Amino acid sequence: MRLTPVCRWCGAGPLAPTLSFTTPTKVLDFGCGPFHLHACQACGTWQLNPHPGPKASRRFFSGPERWFMGVDPDGKHVKPIELLEGQREEYSEYAKTITALLPENGAIMDVGAATGLMLSLIDDPRAKVAVEPNAFPATVAMREGHMVIQDWAEALSPPPKPLACIIMNKTLDHLPRPDQFLAKAVNWLAPGGLLLLGGLINPSCLTARIYGPDFRLFHPFHQVYPTPAAVDKVLTPYGLELVTTWRPYFQTPHGSPVKFLKTCGFIALRCLKLSPVSISKAFPGNTVTYLYRKRILFRPLKVETPVTSSLSA
Ligand SMILES: [Zn+2]
Repeated sequence: MRLTPVCRWCGAGPLAPTLSFTTPTKVLDFGCGPFHLHACQACGTWQLNPHPGPKASRRFFSGPERWFMGVDPDGKHVKPIELLEGQREEYSEYAKTITALLPENGAIMDVGAATGLMLSLIDDPRAKVAVEPNAFPATVAMREGHMVIQDWAEALSPPPKPLACIIMNKTLDHLPRPDQFLAKAVNWLAPGGLLLLGGLINPSCLTARIYGPDFRLFHPFHQVYPTPAAVDKVLTPYGLELVTTWRPYFQTPHGSPVKFLKTCGFIALRCLKLSPVSISKAFPGNTVTYLYRKRILFRPLKVETPVTSSLSA
């Protein structure tokens, strides 16, 4: 476990202890002992501190069984590979927007691509690269016809040519140092290139504020929780502009009008301290997906002052 003196989102700080978890306080036993969340006083991002470091993180994400066995925050057994297919509708919305805005040249790279579902949904014939460290989904992505780099995000080398789009769906917040990865990746984008950061968990959302430690998405391998303001604070100085955001819920397997109304009831009961539900439910705003675009900078041409000379007259 590593203690980070500075914020792993904005690089500043200081970090103030905010919430601590011992595993029995949540339904799940993550098998990694207690974890602690600190909030950055400069940007508001919450983060694990100390963080588990790349070795523990790689062990957690590289096992093939990870795609077939899992337990959700309610204690239900789930198959992540099936949950991924359930995200088709949500990912289709992102893909449609991206397809319409792609700059003319450059490949598309999906970092943490899993089976390459998102790349398959982008209706464009250009080269698509799936970066996926886990051998099982990487093989599926290869069968789907994508170029696959089976490696970790932090180990990537710069691409040979500027990229039209970088996609990171539910990936950036799992990296031990997302700040360092972003600083690198922004340079790989072509002018007008797109950056999709999908499913970042918002610690200032309604249910996180009401449920505190019982918010369903606090997890020792969700290492960084930037608020929308913190995302903007870090990405804007890189020359990125926000195109749009999504708060996925109704188009996911976790959301429906009936579930929404039920959850509103649970929230009201929780506020009145009458709730039988200890862990919060899925709710709009728990996660935010951001689409940014690298600005096309038009540098003003040097204005030539016409030289007038009495000699030419
Ligand atoms: Zn910060």
